[in-house]
Amino acid sequence: MEKYPQCLKCTAGDMLPLSDYGRDGATIQFKAWVCSNPDCGHNLRIDNGEISVGRPIRSNGK
Ligand SMILES: [Zn+2]
Repeated sequence: MEKYPQCLKCTAGDMLPLSDYGRDGATIQFKAWVCSNPDCGHNLRIDNGEISVGRPIRSNGK
């Protein structure tokens, strides 16, 4: 199993990379990273070259 970087916020979880697909269908690897610790929820994502940190990720809706 690959070793992922440790979450710098809670230092308990690992940062898991999430992939996405661009408009041209090319895979965007590591578009977002999310902490594996659900109690932490730390995440960062990359949109058009800009990094956003701490934006909430909706998991189940309401
Ligand atoms: Zn964390």
